[in-house]
Amino acid sequence: MQIVIIGAGVIGLATAWRTAAGGAAVTLVDPAPASGASSVAAGMLTPVSELTYGEEPLLRLGLASRDRYGAFVAELEELTGLETGYRTDGILEVAFDSDDLRHLDDLRRFQEDLGIPAEALTGRECRRLEPMLAPGVRGGLLAPEDGSVDPRRLAPALLAACERLGVRLVRRRAERVVVENGAAAGVGLDDGTVIPADRVLLAAGPWSGDLGGLPPGTVPPVRPVKGQVIRLRTRAPFLRRATRGLVRGSSVYLVPRADGEIVLGATQEELGFDTRVTAGGLWELLRDARELLPGITELEFAEVRAGLRPGSPDNAPVMGPTALPGLLVGTGHFRNGILLTPVSADILSAMLLDGPVPEVAGPFAPDRFSPEVSA
Ligand code: FAD
Repeated sequence: MQIVIIGAGVIGLATAWRTAAGGAAVTLVDPAPASGASSVAAGMLTPVSELTYGEEPLLRLGLASRDRYGAFVAELEELTGLETGYRTDGILEVAFDSDDLRHLDDLRRFQEDLGIPAEALTGRECRRLEPMLAPGVRGGLLAPEDGSVDPRRLAPALLAACERLGVRLVRRRAERVVVENGAAAGVGLDDGTVIPADRVLLAAGPWSGDLGGLPPGTVPPVRPVKGQVIRLRTRAPFLRRATRGLVRGSSVYLVPRADGEIVLGATQEELGFDTRVTAGGLWELLRDARELLPGITELEFAEVRAGLRPGSPDNAPVMGPTALPGLLVGTGHFRNGILLTPVSADILSAMLLDGPVPEVAGPFAPDRFSPEVSA
């Protein structure tokens, strides 16, 4: 079986690795592997802290992926000898004022209704966990089973795993899906060559809708959602675990790495394919982070970047066969693509190899956006 995967972000890379491990010949097409959202993301693994009303199927998918993470990373690190910066020290969510605290209380009740333990903490208990927090922090929630990974280490490790398993990497832009006899039969590249395929997986993040050769409506609409991120550096201990904060209703997070990097993010902006870093975006992040952790202003500045999250119409992933036989999609992972990498790779590789598909995949089929199903 010849499989071509378009896009080598974390979703395309992890799926290529798992599909090659299942015995298929896999070609991965990307002019710049791991250059998309996967190179900007903070890497929080937080199905619980990110919980939103009405997103229960996404919560189940997130929990299924978080449960797979330890084994996934252990196998990857052993195969490649590369570290991924995986940590399981929990995620702390703190509230700046009493309205923010009310919001966290609502979230805790919602989590409890769903049977997910959430530990409510006073301001003092939060500061015991994270001594650099401002004295005014009102309280918080600890999600003890959440954690983080470094996407800038995860993606190279996935690339190395693909190389180990003989995945062919073609550093070119895919321009079109070749259709023969009403089915996907290959991928046309920007140099005019065509790679024949029995199956094609489109995993090109927010660019997944850009490919030529497809009948209209074959790929559900995916939009870019801009996120600006600041990277800081510290030599002295500053933060023990990933910490999210609500500051007068606006969200900010800081994710520490073992080497002293601290990722501060992120804005959420609907501005199309715009990756400019703006003064206003950075100011908002620094303003809110300083309210929670006043010492942040002493940290060394390292980098600013903006990335594009792939968002589907309902902000949930889109994974599975399209109306064009032989063409599958794996995109729309929005704010959770790093968290959802292991489960998405299991789902998409099972679909490509005709294996048993994990049940949690059910609600994320692309046909939920087709006019008949949505009616
Ligand atoms: P991408 O990583 O965007 O990769 C798409 C790839 O497709 C790119 O390498 C690109 O070069 C390639 N491509 C595009 N067009 C073509 C073409 N025509 N031919 C061939 N290749 C093509 N998720 C979490 O779980 N936790 C977080 O803490 C988190 N924080 C985030 C913070 C920010 C600021 C952002 C922007 C995202 C964050 N995310 C987080 C979300 C996560 O990064 C994404 O959901 C995930 O990276 C999506 O992966 P992907 O492989 O689908 O897409």
